[in-house]
Amino acid sequence: MKTLITTAMVFGLLTATLATQQPKKTLARKPLPIIDMHLHAHRADSSGPPPIAICAPFPYWPDRDLRAPSLDYVTTFLKKPVCKNPLWSPMTDMELMTQSLDILERRNIVAVASGDLEVVEKWKQSKPDRIILALEFNVKAGVPVEKLRQWVKEGKIAVFGEMDDQYMGVTPDDPAYEPYLALAEELDIPIGIHIGPGPPGVTYFGPETKNYRARMHSPLSLEEPLMRHPKLRVYVMHAGWPMIDDMVAMLYAHPQLYVDVGIIVYAFPRAEFYRYLQRLFEAGFGRRIMFGSDQMIWPQAIEKAIESIEAAPFLTAEQKRDIFYNNANRFLRLNKEGK
Ligand SMILES: [Zn+2]
Repeated sequence: MKTLITTAMVFGLLTATLATQQPKKTLARKPLPIIDMHLHAHRADSSGPPPIAICAPFPYWPDRDLRAPSLDYVTTFLKKPVCKNPLWSPMTDMELMTQSLDILERRNIVAVASGDLEVVEKWKQSKPDRIILALEFNVKAGVPVEKLRQWVKEGKIAVFGEMDDQYMGVTPDDPAYEPYLALAEELDIPIGIHIGPGPPGVTYFGPETKNYRARMHSPLSLEEPLMRHPKLRVYVMHAGWPMIDDMVAMLYAHPQLYVDVGIIVYAFPRAEFYRYLQRLFEAGFGRRIMFGSDQMIWPQAIEKAIESIEAAPFLTAEQKRDIFYNNANRFLRLNKEGK
């Protein structure tokens, strides 16, 4: 999910709810490794002035009263959560980074971290072994292709994504995507594309997201690009929720395609996430589902996401390891022997 809630950034209403701090625990033994394919290295105010709340999970999605200004609905998500124990975002960039990196260390996680290059680099410098550098961008922002090529060459980017064009109403089959897909294929760089949910009602949040449409949740928009770029290593971020039939069809037709479970893993009503995940497993795609938190500005969301997979009653221990590590390890080609 992209934290693009620009209209909300003008809010001055912020009550001083303090970010909650997780008590630090020391684990006797290093836990088994996890790869988080969908972590964001953001600034603390990237979704508006902190603190901002999220439910993990949401018990239900708030309804919108059309008599109220549309910004009131946004407030429901940012400041007036509908759950009892929301996560509140840290107040500063430093707290956000430190708390996130502490969790990566404690839970033995390596994360594909995306955001502005400057922020991602800072996280990388703080914990080099825990961060895989990724660039969050969209094709309409006009990042020059040659610039990207240079950054890859210089080792500044190892993954393209999150590519969040869906918020702007642009799908991967849009001609504007072509040069970026061609570059990713040429350089053999993995690419993660947002296909699936943004915040509910995001199309009403402001001018930047007014072209977002529900039909863009479908991963079928990726099919022609995959045919044009047979060597492209792409993963569908958010697993194309809720278009399960389209997702199953795409995974079946394109055996090189992977997905991550970003945001749906911790913020979505648990029964719905489990039903979706179980369907992907039962359809036979357990080797291409990767753990991704989509942690944006709430460090504890990483742990909530882990707990959600750990508690899934329909998964074996081996299948959980595939999600947490083995599948991403194979997709990223981190360790050719595999684990
Ligand atoms: Zn996303």
